[in-house]
Amino acid sequence: DRLKESKVFMRALFDYVPLEDKATPCQEAGLPFKKGDILQVVSHDDQTWWQAKRVGDSNLRAGLIPSKHFQERYGRMFALVPSGLRRSFRLSRKDRQGSAGEGSDPGDSDFLTYEEVTRYQQRPNERPRLVVLIGSLGARINELKQRVIAENPHRYAVAVPHTTRPKKPHEKEGVEYHFVTKQQFDTDVINNKFIEHGEYKENQYGTSIEAIRSVQAKSKMCIVDVQPEVLRLRTTEFKPYVIFVKPRIPESRRRRSAATSPGGGDHGRTTDEDLQEMRQSALQIEQQYGHVVDRVLIKEDSASACVELRGILERLEREAFWVPLCWVR
Ligand code: 5GP
Repeated sequence: DRLKESKVFMRALFDYVPLEDKATPCQEAGLPFKKGDILQVVSHDDQTWWQAKRVGDSNLRAGLIPSKHFQERYGRMFALVPSGLRRSFRLSRKDRQGSAGEGSDPGDSDFLTYEEVTRYQQRPNERPRLVVLIGSLGARINELKQRVIAENPHRYAVAVPHTTRPKKPHEKEGVEYHFVTKQQFDTDVINNKFIEHGEYKENQYGTSIEAIRSVQAKSKMCIVDVQPEVLRLRTTEFKPYVIFVKPRIPESRRRRSAATSPGGGDHGRTTDEDLQEMRQSALQIEQQYGHVVDRVLIKEDSASACVELRGILERLEREAFWVPLCWVR
């Protein structure tokens, strides 16, 4: 049995730096990894220290990593884990209190450590996976979503939202929106039919779970851009593939633009402050949702991001991807 290749794979939900770990029996034998890395656990004979390899590493030697059990206790007791993890832990907890969902959020455990994963490939006649776009400030994911769908409307679609606002003459029921009465909308809210809803100019808007199902029933890939709700959508039914769209943020404002427009009159131009806000926003997303992100798409500009997104969606239908083990068991 020992000679058999291990089939236990874990997605790391925290960063691990062995050289900063005071608890390890041997810092040099440690295997460093980052949140999101897939680790093959080659031995969990020891309760405290597992031996693991990083999937995709050419290095064949296994290294020591803290076991799930140990990391859960140790992270809490000694707080020796990198500060990013502790912050992400607190935020995602607060977040969970806001939504009523259960899903398979790995953050349901007290401390984010590892999530057991397996390779999963969608079969041709199976319901397409849900695609969730998360964007930090400046990513403009709605535009990106609309563009990819417009190019391939027979393959990709949005979930048609509900609204209480009156239908405009050019609009069709069930195309732009499902038009409902205020009373119907409120009932749907109470019955938990929406994954998200909000008010805009005194009208209600919301996206229902049924709207996602109805896209998938047509064998189309449904693309949504919801944020805290991504945790609630992490279910066996939807098997969401989460893409974090992050604008490429330059080190600082280009010099030329500063020189060509000294002082005011800088409307529409990105300032150092804007860049700082963008960085902050990206960091916040990483801390809050990093543990559920399958793929980071660095956006240079709309056109290239669109091409890249299309490529990812095509591969999603053809290739195997890591998903939580509980989704396929
Ligand atoms: P319109 O009434 O012009 O079609 O949409 C106006 C605004 O309603 C949009 O810009 C957006 O802010 C909001 N809205 C549209 N669909 C949804 C939705 O599904 N959920 C939420 N929360 N807001 C929406």
